[in-house]
Amino acid sequence: MNILIFGPNGSGKGTQGALAKKKFELDHIESGAIFRKHIGGGTELGMKAKAFIEKGELVPDDITIPMVLDVLQSSDENGWLLDGFPRSIVQAQKLWEALEKDGVKLDYVIEILLPREVAKNRIMGRRLCENDPNHPNNKFIDAIKPEGDVCRVCGGALTERADDQDGDAINKRHDIYYDETTGTVAAAYFYKDLAAKAGFKYITLDGEGTIDSIKETLMAQLV
Ligand code: AMP
Repeated sequence: MNILIFGPNGSGKGTQGALAKKKFELDHIESGAIFRKHIGGGTELGMKAKAFIEKGELVPDDITIPMVLDVLQSSDENGWLLDGFPRSIVQAQKLWEALEKDGVKLDYVIEILLPREVAKNRIMGRRLCENDPNHPNNKFIDAIKPEGDVCRVCGGALTERADDQDGDAINKRHDIYYDETTGTVAAAYFYKDLAAKAGFKYITLDGEGTIDSIKETLMAQLV
């Protein structure tokens, strides 16, 4: 089972993705998290990527594409949930070429829709758990509001991502996401157009619903 998930930062993509991942016991391959791991570990790739990430820009394709394709290839047999990649039309095409070449079947593509202003407010409230980045915590969403300064799932310490508190960086990330010509929405449309022909299901979710209602809609469609 292989799934792609699209959604602007702040759309609940991590939360919904974690559900799909759990249901099918998939590897969660998250490009942003891979970069953060490299940065934390002080690797050469991490050092190259850091400046772009802090500015809210895309890390160049010559670093990102091989890094993600490499992780995909080493994923185990249950399959993967790919999150944060592709983020541009070029990455969408390169990924499709790689999947076709390796004979890897795509089963679902999920797109979460959310207006840009709503997404921005949600990002500013987001908090990261030290134990698991997919434990949902957001100061501005009642259903997942942390208790004090600790994770509501496991009690782990919470931190803010530096790029989550910088309005300019958020705008830049959203400029990339909502760009329908070359950006992430264009990448999503690339897969939407392919879906019927290539035999995978394209699922669209309304990101303004409650976490539970989105979850229900998603689970009913993942069969
Ligand atoms: P995320 O955790 O998905 O918000 O990603 C954090 C940052 O990592 C992004 O703002 C980009 O700088 C970088 N990044 C993540 N995925 C990609 C990608 N597919 N292409 C280029 N840069 C990426």
